[in-house]
Amino acid sequence: MLIRTMYYLPQVLAREWKTTASIQRHSLAEARSLLRDVLRTNVFYKKKLEHITIEEIQSCEDLSVIPFTTKDELRRGFPDVISKGYTPEGCIHESTSGSTGDVLNIYHDPAAYSFYDAVSLREYMGLNLWPWYRMSYIRFEQQPARIFEYLGILRKRYIPVAVPAEEQLRLVQNHNPDVASGYPSSLYEIARLYRENPGSLRLKMVLSNSELLTESTREYLESTFNCPVYDDYSSFELHNIGAECALKSMHIHIDNNIVEIIKDGEQAAPGEVGEIVVTNIRNRAMPFIRYRTGDYGALDEEPCPCGRGLPVFKSIEGRKDEYLVLPSGGHVSPRVFDPLDLIFHLYVSKFQIIQKKKDEFLIKVVREANYHDDVTKTLVREAKRCFPEPIEVEVMPVEDISRTGRGKLRAVLCEVNS
Ligand SMILES: [Zn+2]
Repeated sequence: MLIRTMYYLPQVLAREWKTTASIQRHSLAEARSLLRDVLRTNVFYKKKLEHITIEEIQSCEDLSVIPFTTKDELRRGFPDVISKGYTPEGCIHESTSGSTGDVLNIYHDPAAYSFYDAVSLREYMGLNLWPWYRMSYIRFEQQPARIFEYLGILRKRYIPVAVPAEEQLRLVQNHNPDVASGYPSSLYEIARLYRENPGSLRLKMVLSNSELLTESTREYLESTFNCPVYDDYSSFELHNIGAECALKSMHIHIDNNIVEIIKDGEQAAPGEVGEIVVTNIRNRAMPFIRYRTGDYGALDEEPCPCGRGLPVFKSIEGRKDEYLVLPSGGHVSPRVFDPLDLIFHLYVSKFQIIQKKKDEFLIKVVREANYHDDVTKTLVREAKRCFPEPIEVEVMPVEDISRTGRGKLRAVLCEVNS
């Protein structure tokens, strides 16, 4: 596997500097080759694509002739979703749970996994994250070591997000890493404690993942740890989808995942927010073709000044089930409440905004010692100002806010059926 990753690495490093059109041509060729194989070897997709011919797909946009694939379909389709020539035992297994708690088992072609590793190395090298850097990896569960870690490259120390923030900070300080990687909500908790009692951390960068990173949380972490914070976008199903370069543009790894933005069933215009639909062009064992991620985002028409040809996300707006319902109908991104972070960061160690009814919101807060009654009034006033339509807002102090099964904290939650 390591040899394969090292084989891919120079190719992926060279590719990101080519023109967008050239990278798209490469991705199209890879997509067509994968579809050709899938039509021969995958019972699930054979049925799904029975009316499609490869000749119809002459551009990445032409993938739109293929029907969407959902997590539920893949779950129900097992074992037909595994291509002939692959067995679950011969693949790299991961799993993901949806909001309903149903588990999707995912099987990656080992060759695809080597490619993901090469793309991860490209991300790191783009940030000047050097192989000898030590990384504290704050997560719900320990990930299997990546192949390059066996060479002593980017060895991670796992820090469980399930232990109290004080303990997480102690473990990070003991490790004294160059890089800290984690969910923004847990990095924020650690940063608060570190501000109260600064230690000797000398972080060179912080990597944020798995939850929405707001600009004010980024600034809070950057000023606390005195280093840049970079975000990425990936999933167990698709792996590397996007990652920020040093200029903080979220580049899309279209040589790994072709991304479409779908609004009202059609491809959205640049800048327009829609559902992120992804075709992974590497995993032949259990293909993900026009896979509905349930995440919302928009593409940027402008290339990044860094010069990479990989296109750029303009925004990632969050998951569909985090979208809020407007009293008058329609939906709005959970990011409408981003400005409240500025208040939370002054007085609150954890928070959660819950839409209980179309026009009723509850804000749970775990208060810091300096919290006072006026903060509640300010939160109510500002939350009403953030939301585009009239709402009632209640602020409820709580002892703690529980994380999801995977250790994430849902900052904004909608309990309204739209
Ligand atoms: Zn860039």
